[in-house]
Amino acid sequence: MKYYQGPWPENRKGVVCLTFDVDVGYAYAKGTQTWGALPKRLGLDTLVAGGLSVESRGYYGLYSGLPRILALLDRKGITGTFFIPARNMELYPQELRAIHEAGHEIGNHGYEHEAVEQLERSPAKETALLEKAQSVFRSTLGLAPVGYRSPAWDMSRGTPGRLQQAGFLYDSSLFAGDAPYRLSLYDPAVQMLEMPIDWSKDDAAYFLFFKPPVMFAQFHDPESVFRIWRAELDGVVDAGGVFTLTCHPSISGRFHRLEILERLIDHAVSRGDVLFATLEQVARHVQDRL
Ligand SMILES: [Zn+2]
Repeated sequence: MKYYQGPWPENRKGVVCLTFDVDVGYAYAKGTQTWGALPKRLGLDTLVAGGLSVESRGYYGLYSGLPRILALLDRKGITGTFFIPARNMELYPQELRAIHEAGHEIGNHGYEHEAVEQLERSPAKETALLEKAQSVFRSTLGLAPVGYRSPAWDMSRGTPGRLQQAGFLYDSSLFAGDAPYRLSLYDPAVQMLEMPIDWSKDDAAYFLFFKPPVMFAQFHDPESVFRIWRAELDGVVDAGGVFTLTCHPSISGRFHRLEILERLIDHAVSRGDVLFATLEQVARHVQDRL
């Protein structure tokens, strides 16, 4: 098993990638979308479907959290990677185009936040959704994302091959390392890069709240989350890897969470050996060196 752990540009020891999944309503909505699927299987879907409560939380992310996050990154001079379900580009083109116009990378986060691991028996449907999403990005932004992040942070055995066929440079949905590796780990025919993630570096795992008894009921102390993220960042950077943090505007856009994100950025800057980069920049650096 080969990981890429440097050398990095500017002689930096390791890399920090700040990524944001801009789900708006889709992470919470009913139907085939990711988070809607579990309550449905448990027969609890009526508790989460239909009400305006969950939808309004998505709008909080879009209209309050996102501008604050963009302002923070601008203040710190950092370029991030934003994964967006393409349907959101159709619904909120003006708000989401601002991300691209600020110079950040846009990644493909499905069309309607579909749970691709559940499409194993419908490969044609999975391919069609991938292509549909890419065409929406082309028409709304004039570009096709080179990065993919599965909405459910999961995929079927066939997904890596379909991503490679669709022309993606990298995926960022799986967990098998702290540094880039190739998806050949799962399918020898697939050479695409994986930019690994982890639930411990995802704000949703600590802060995503649904009214009991449906799903999550979590309000962690941000201070303890900050300590986990800082320890992970230090460990991954010391090992020459890529610390990839995932935040959601509807979650980390809240003030008490934005504060730990800013402190984490300040900590990384203060080390003096961290390269901030987008996942695309990392993938292009690693592509011919791994
Ligand atoms: Zn998502």
